[in-house]
Amino acid sequence: MKAAAPLGLSTRLVHSGEPHPRPGGAIAMPVYQSATFAFTGRDPDEELRYARLNNTPNHAVLHAKLADLEGGEAALVTASGMAAIATALLTVLKSGDHLIVQETLYGGTDHFISHELPDLGIAVSRVDPARPDAWAAEVRETTRAVYVESITNPTMAVPDHEAVVGFARAHGLVALIDNTFASPVNFRPPEWGYDLSLHSATKYLNGHSDLIAGTIIGRADLIEAARVRLNHFGATLDPHACFLLHRGLKTLALRVSRQNDSALALARFLREHPAVSAVHYPGLEDHPTHAFACRFHDGFGGMVSFVLRSGGEGVQRFMERLKIAVAAPSLGGVETLVSAPALTSHRTLDVARRRALGIADGMVRLSVGIEDVADLIADVDQALSGAGAATAR
Ligand code: PLP
Repeated sequence: MKAAAPLGLSTRLVHSGEPHPRPGGAIAMPVYQSATFAFTGRDPDEELRYARLNNTPNHAVLHAKLADLEGGEAALVTASGMAAIATALLTVLKSGDHLIVQETLYGGTDHFISHELPDLGIAVSRVDPARPDAWAAEVRETTRAVYVESITNPTMAVPDHEAVVGFARAHGLVALIDNTFASPVNFRPPEWGYDLSLHSATKYLNGHSDLIAGTIIGRADLIEAARVRLNHFGATLDPHACFLLHRGLKTLALRVSRQNDSALALARFLREHPAVSAVHYPGLEDHPTHAFACRFHDGFGGMVSFVLRSGGEGVQRFMERLKIAVAAPSLGGVETLVSAPALTSHRTLDVARRRALGIADGMVRLSVGIEDVADLIADVDQALSGAGAATAR
């Protein structure tokens, strides 16, 4: 008999991990808003259930769904994306160890790596993701892990995932990736050999800008070790937030496929606009990592950044003129959000380093939502015309 075809991502988003039988027949998972659960002590395998241990029925269903979504062996939800990142790093690293990271990272991660890890006796080296041939020179006796992001904020660079995982394997390192920007719709790290995939579930996974959450997905042995760490740190996701994340996840594929299409349309529009000097979007043929995005990712994502010819001065004017997109320091929601990296996520960087990383003062970052793309383009167009560019339409 022909084996059943594997279920598609949209089907799995709705059905994977759901309890059978459904509790009380409920189609939507009820919220188990209980700190603790009855313990009979009669079954030696019976689990002590307590919400801080991330093991309520709301956690269990999410763990199963998230692992299945990316093809990981197991998953863990956490109280925030930073809780996922810090817990994962402190699971694979201890005092005396050394970590290799790509040089441009999400600001919170960068700060954690630059300040917390050295205090704990963990050394860090930064490498250029575009030059994997040079990374071997950074490997030490004590190197334990390599850490990258699937799409780098805000220049939207996609790494050569085969080179990253190949490098990790060749040197016996754990390969970690922050997959927040791509989302599992566009990239599934365990399928390419990453050991741990991390998300700020605050962003695309939940998608409605109404909670803070994180997740760690990947190898069962590492997830088990991370679970013990997380229990100690107490960075638990509350059952109600689990419920919201669970609900948001069901529409992930619909949302992200719309965001992929709209972001590409906006990127193409911006590229032709006289008030814009550069557009960073991996779906554009001239983006430096377009070939990697085509090879490894199933879609180019909903994040676009661009540079105003009017420089830093025009940024504030542009953002104030927008009528649909809202200025806010987050991403991945149903509403289009806009931010200025030099003023927000990367403001603490030394100016010279920021410019060297390609983060111009006039850069604007768009997290494209699910609104009608014609409305988004019209909104951006009218805001650009007042952004102070001499050549604006
Ligand atoms: N990773 C990336 C790429 C992010 O953009 C963020 C937050 O903006 C985080 C991690 C941290 O996530 P959270 O704010 O949920 O802790």
